[in-house]
Amino acid sequence: MQAVHLQLGVLAGVEQAALQFSYEIVTAGTPLEGSALVIHDVPVRVYCPNCAQEGEVVNPARMRCPTCEGLCSDLRSGKELYLSALDLFGEPDLEETKV
Ligand SMILES: [Zn+2]
Repeated sequence: MQAVHLQLGVLAGVEQAALQFSYEIVTAGTPLEGSALVIHDVPVRVYCPNCAQEGEVVNPARMRCPTCEGLCSDLRSGKELYLSALDLFGEPDLEETKV
């Protein structure tokens, strides 16, 4: 096992540094020992009823539409925490599959 890819939403409430640190600890002595944990940021996206489209929230503390600045509560992404790919035998990145 060379690398484990994780999709991590900005709003998942998990700190990347803490995750990397725990990964080393929990994989020590397992077949995953020495493999890399690759964390991919998933941006916060909301659906704006005003603009009738999805947009990427610039500041997740204020959930506002990037186009019209309207307040949006219809969260479409940003809370993800899942494995997206496993690189085996040092092969190049596998194609990432989204759920
Ligand atoms: Zn809008």
